[in-house]
Amino acid sequence: MPIHDFANFVGMAVKNIRYILLLMLITLAALFVTQAYWFKKSFQLEERQFEDSLNVALRSVADQLLKSNNDTTQRIAPIQKLSSNEFFVQTDCYYTLHELDSLLKYEFKARSLDFDYDYMMLEAGTTEIVLGNSVPGILDINNVACRSRDGVADYYDFKIRLTNKKAFLLNSLGIWMFSSSTLLIILAVFVFIIVFILRGRKLAIQKANFVNNMTHELKTPISNIAVASDAIRNKNRKLDQNKLETYAEIIYNENDRLNKLVDSVLELSSLEKNEQSFSFEEVDIHKIISETSRRFKPIIDQRNGEVILHLDAETSVASADKLHVSNVVYNLIENALKFSKDEPEVVIETRNIDGKLEISISDKGVGINVEDQDYIFENFYRVQSGNVHSTKGFGLGLSYVKLVIEKHGGSLSFSSKEGFGSTFNVYLAV
Ligand code: ADP
Repeated sequence: MPIHDFANFVGMAVKNIRYILLLMLITLAALFVTQAYWFKKSFQLEERQFEDSLNVALRSVADQLLKSNNDTTQRIAPIQKLSSNEFFVQTDCYYTLHELDSLLKYEFKARSLDFDYDYMMLEAGTTEIVLGNSVPGILDINNVACRSRDGVADYYDFKIRLTNKKAFLLNSLGIWMFSSSTLLIILAVFVFIIVFILRGRKLAIQKANFVNNMTHELKTPISNIAVASDAIRNKNRKLDQNKLETYAEIIYNENDRLNKLVDSVLELSSLEKNEQSFSFEEVDIHKIISETSRRFKPIIDQRNGEVILHLDAETSVASADKLHVSNVVYNLIENALKFSKDEPEVVIETRNIDGKLEISISDKGVGINVEDQDYIFENFYRVQSGNVHSTKGFGLGLSYVKLVIEKHGGSLSFSSKEGFGSTFNVYLAV
């Protein structure tokens, strides 16, 4: 399949996946709304039924209390709901806390109302609590009678407070709880699938980008080699020594470039597979920076740019792999130059903070827009602005930098503003 067809195919697949995911999301959302609606309805219904039973039970308690007072003339006042979990019963007669306790227990049990509650006796006609199960020590005293307490009235009302009403109601909504949990599990599976698909999708895009970049990068040297070797091969044309050397040089250089491309891909993949061993030794990072930046002198001179070094760290010797750290510095300077227009200005600074060496490499280049900032350390990721092929690369440089710094137990950060430039900071233990 030609490259652009492949990219188109990936693009179409990505679009379709998006529609399918959106449709699934809408369906699930609708399912959730319906479930929530019916759940709420059932909860309200259950609550009403529960309160009806509670009402009957409390009236029965009140009735028996009145009877125990030989009072058959009083009518039982309607049970008052003080709050969602507090119910007041006007009895206006005398009884003990234990009497109330056993009556409540009996009536609730008879109606299978198995919830937790506190109960309190109030001085009749007031809101003053006289006795209650939650009043400390009260139930430890045998045969507590209100008469035996000082300043207590002769007549009482009582109220109960439900302490786990919601949990009790939810418990009785067993089937609803089950279906809601199932729905939650479905949602979790759905989220998992989405993450899985999106990851696959990202990989497909990365692969397509990589193939695109790779082909582009390979094409130029291959066609240069083809032209040069064809010129040498052509028996009809007599080449003088000078021309022959030029063509040979072209072939050699282009071959070298191809080699480097393949090496960079192989190097990263073997680093990722942990195949490459690091050889740590005490190295002076300042020396690495100076040497590496010197390698860019020809390019910088050619572009009328400059690399400014402020190597101010007092301790710059770290245990590191010289080759890999040089490559890290190289990649960061290369990017700073690659993504700077006109005359590049790169500043490299070092300093010691918290027992670490900070190396920061800043440029005044094109910067990275906010949306792309999360991805630049991923393999094959290149910012898709304008013609991505105008700057060379596979999107592997920063992945390599990150891997190497991680293997050194160091860390990496960056800040960038589109149109103003970027700064990459590397932290190594010294
Ligand atoms: P490559 O340089 O091969 O494209 P990298 O992994 O080194 O790949 O960088 C990934 C992307 O991050 C680049 O394509 C570029 O868009 C962005 N980037 C990296 N360094 C800079 C920088 N100093 N300024 C602006 N953009 C940068």
